Amino acid sequence: MIHFRIPDRKNNALCLRPPAFFLSVLFAVCLAGCGQKTESLTASDSTGKAELVTTGTGAADDPMEWSGMYFDTMISIRLYGDRAAEWMQGCADYCSSMENTLSAEKETSELYRVNHRTKQTVTVSDDLAECIEEGLKYSEMSDGAFDITILPVKDLWDFEENSHEGTVPDDADIQEQLKKVDYTKVHLNGNELSFDSPDTMIDLGGIAKGYISGKLKEYLTGEGCRSALINLGGNVRAIGTKPDGSEWTVGIQTPFDDRGTVLTTLSTSDDSVISSGIYERYFESNGKIYHHIIDPRTGYPAETDLNQVTVVGEDDAAGDALATIGIVLGENGMKKFLKAHNLTSSETVLFTDQDNSYAWYPSDPAASQGVKSQSKEIQDSESQNTEIQSIEIQGTEIQGTEIQSMESQSTEGNE
Ligand code: AMP
Ligand code: MG
Repeated sequence: MIHFRIPDRKNNALCLRPPAFFLSVLFAVCLAGCGQKTESLTASDSTGKAELVTTGTGAADDPMEWSGMYFDTMISIRLYGDRAAEWMQGCADYCSSMENTLSAEKETSELYRVNHRTKQTVTVSDDLAECIEEGLKYSEMSDGAFDITILPVKDLWDFEENSHEGTVPDDADIQEQLKKVDYTKVHLNGNELSFDSPDTMIDLGGIAKGYISGKLKEYLTGEGCRSALINLGGNVRAIGTKPDGSEWTVGIQTPFDDRGTVLTTLSTSDDSVISSGIYERYFESNGKIYHHIIDPRTGYPAETDLNQVTVVGEDDAAGDALATIGIVLGENGMKKFLKAHNLTSSETVLFTDQDNSYAWYPSDPAASQGVKSQSKEIQDSESQNTEIQSIEIQGTEIQGTEIQSMESQSTEGNE
């Protein structure tokens, strides 16, 4: 269930400016010890369990919080409930195991082994099978605008997080690698995965974070958790409401502006808020921006009229895939796509165009005022309980945190 609100400089105060180093500091501070609130639950790799350092107890006025780095993505979780410690450990263990399952880069991961297979039929784990199944579904639905076999082309491009430097690969190389991109050469039958061609390689970067946050939600709700907020590299998943029954407020990052500059906010419970954008992983060359979302028809970054696409809905994996598809298809193409696939009732999409004007689809509170809202940098004090939501696949920093935490360098939030 979502409600929208248009930013109001005076009343909806958001001053979420979490520069990367500061968030690192925040985490470092917690590791070093946030007074008596820090508790090391597990610190053993040999048991297969993730090292987990948390703060808080899970009480309504003292949420349990944890941040961890997996698949190059900072994950932060806030949990409420008397079994918060146990649940947090479960989440951390799952993240750890997914890093060893879904990563195309990590040489020890299951997907890496699949991509470097010697036989063209392999048996894969349930999670890998399910994530590939979801990826294939959106590859088919989008007729290849989303294509989970993008890896050979993606590997030619070098999109360094934060450096914004890179070189355009040779066109001949792009065309050569593009021949290997074709999701129709991948077939899944239960846990049996087969490839028509030995050079087909899978990359789940466009859907894995959504898949994982969806699984974390399933786990937590199955365990009886009624209040939690999960932030996977900027993709936010709300579980229930805050303990006082009020909704979570999620802030959407303004593209190409300082991290933490909020474009707009929305209040939500039990939804995921997932963005794709062209402003996190990109470089400029000859005045042109080359970003990390590739058009599988050309092998080049998608020519798009959008800086960002944000998808709000119940299905996290869908949101992740759809946000990526939105960048490739552009605003009109995506609207047609959503209508054609009857997704307008399950998903709400925020399109942010090249001048950072934005509009919701299909329901658009800003449009009811006759104009598209312009992005605003909100600086005020009423910013507690807001998660800044921005985009970055396999990013390296926490994308969002509670403003109170950042300002005080403490994880003791005022819920
Ligand atoms: P996202 O940030 O969710 O939009 O995902 C971007 C990531 O998805 C990239 O870093 C690639 O790993 C992968 N990717 C890029 N272009 C595509 C595409 N057209 N279809 C599927 N995955 C893609
Ligand atoms: Mg995506």
